[in-house]
Amino acid sequence: MDEERAIRTGDMVDNALAVARTVLSRAPLFDGHNDLPWVIRIDRAARGDVLAYDLLRVHEGADTDIPRLREGIVGAQFWAAFQPTSASHPARTTMEQIDLIRRIEEAYPDVFLPARRASDYEKAKARGKIASFIAVEGGVGLENSLSPLRVWHAAGVRLMTLCHNESLDWVDSATDAPRNGGLNAFGRAVVGELNRLGIVIDLAHTSHEAMRRVLDVTEAPVALSHSNAFSLCDHPRNAPDDVLRRLRTNGGLVMATFVPGFVSQPLRDWLRRSRDGYGKAPLAADPKAQFSELEAKHGTAPKATLLDVADHIVRLVETAGVGQVGIGSDYFGGASPVGLENVGRFPHLFAELVRRGFSERDLEKLSSLNVIRVLRRVERVGERLRKTRPPALGRLEDYPGA
Ligand SMILES: [Zn+2]
Repeated sequence: MDEERAIRTGDMVDNALAVARTVLSRAPLFDGHNDLPWVIRIDRAARGDVLAYDLLRVHEGADTDIPRLREGIVGAQFWAAFQPTSASHPARTTMEQIDLIRRIEEAYPDVFLPARRASDYEKAKARGKIASFIAVEGGVGLENSLSPLRVWHAAGVRLMTLCHNESLDWVDSATDAPRNGGLNAFGRAVVGELNRLGIVIDLAHTSHEAMRRVLDVTEAPVALSHSNAFSLCDHPRNAPDDVLRRLRTNGGLVMATFVPGFVSQPLRDWLRRSRDGYGKAPLAADPKAQFSELEAKHGTAPKATLLDVADHIVRLVETAGVGQVGIGSDYFGGASPVGLENVGRFPHLFAELVRRGFSERDLEKLSSLNVIRVLRRVERVGERLRKTRPPALGRLEDYPGA
């Protein structure tokens, strides 16, 4: 039986899916990363209008909507206020995307609970809602100032991915040339202020060196909201073993992601042809056409599958510990692994983990308990630091050596 058929039929030959659904109804999935806000922004018809996009209907061909969030037993979501680093007006764009997430919450009050604290997960669960958490993906919107951090926090932001695919003036990206030895003095001030505010520091997208430098100075647990094991797929976006092991002492977590090029080594190798030395694709006007062109030249691309994602979860657990792993799908309206085409498919991933021998208690940790623990601890550290430390002020140029 080929892998694709195995995934399709696996749930029919055992009761793993039933076990997975029971576990997820006790501990609904807390997903670390979803780019729906950007999908709504660039949708040709909706153009950022949440009501026009209409999340109540199934979006065939896309990956995220309310019916399938329900089917996937999703209990909480970090929505990404993302923008490409190259976007003009970065501060404005970040603000617009935070606003878009808040408009999702406002448009469907019976579905989403605006979540600003770890305890909101339980509150949402008790009311049959999905806890909606706001994340900023990419610190380019700071425009090298610390002030926006406090404004974002006031707007509800509770996690920040330090950079995206490009290095900034203060932190190095996994997919770009290093400029700051990982993290410079201003970058350390950003980390300190995130600690003080009680915002989770997200090391997805940072260089391995930046991950290490942040772990050296952070006073609170960190997250890698959508990253896999570098030892299984050597894309620089994935986390190396030394960083994964340090998560145990830091108390943080790594959230396994579904992005095919970070999941499957054969696909990663196939894609090297179209990537730069850092594994980054040059911006294409039409990525789908670009992909078909590559396939015409080099033959069909290897596929990433749900089974590969399960392999990463097993490896992450072996390396970092079962208390340090979660799920960060990174559904972004693009390619996803076979068997994980949309947010309705989470129970099928958990069914595979049941088959791999995870206990129900450990599956609850992966599903939500670990990320809630991190949020709670980050909150407590913030409360403590705000009593003793004044807000960090200034801009990049005020940090000598930065
Ligand atoms: Zn990302």
